[in-house]
Amino acid sequence: MSHHLDRLYKICIVGDGAVGKTTILHQYVDDKFVEDTKVTIGTNLFIKRITIPEINTRVTLQIWDLGGQERFFAVRPNFYAGAHGILYTFDLTRFYSLINLKKWKDEIDRVVKPFASILIGNKTDLIDHDRTRPVSKEEGRKAKEDLNACCYIETSAKENIGIDKAFFRVAKEIFKSKH
Ligand code: GDP
Ligand code: MG
Repeated sequence: MSHHLDRLYKICIVGDGAVGKTTILHQYVDDKFVEDTKVTIGTNLFIKRITIPEINTRVTLQIWDLGGQERFFAVRPNFYAGAHGILYTFDLTRFYSLINLKKWKDEIDRVVKPFASILIGNKTDLIDHDRTRPVSKEEGRKAKEDLNACCYIETSAKENIGIDKAFFRVAKEIFKSKH
């Protein structure tokens, strides 16, 4: 029974404004969405229950999104507190949104030691795969190492590509690290 609480995972999605964090969560979470649960913080809280097939385990993901408050330094440490997992998110069309993730990591490292992090390159639908990309797959994989993330996944919140996979992966990694 005590296991029940162990299976509530707090996950924070971070990254520069407009990389697609809120859109990713709306696409992913259909059953519950609570806006501005804490008005003073101005965050969005999303709840999603999943079963991780490989380990046949049910977990509840409690996913926190800054909801447009990315630029407010003062609120961010509270936001990270107690996080089990971090989704580092950048926009595949904006190289600097990837570079800036290092700043997000430094800030998070001062507050919490998550069980698992993953790196998401969003807006893959906007990439012309025949041309030179603003961020190559290689740069994504390299950044994954620098962020100490377990994997790099390219997503499209618009076309619902890669999103379920990203959340399954972070949940699985949290489970593996905790047990
Ligand atoms: P946030 O500030 O990180 O929460 O970003 P938003 O979720 O508000 O998204 C910023 C803008 O990018 C919005 O206009 C979204 O519609 C758009 N957007 C988000 N994800 C995608 C995607 O995968 N593909 C495309 N083409 N647009 C996206
Ligand atoms: Mg947002």
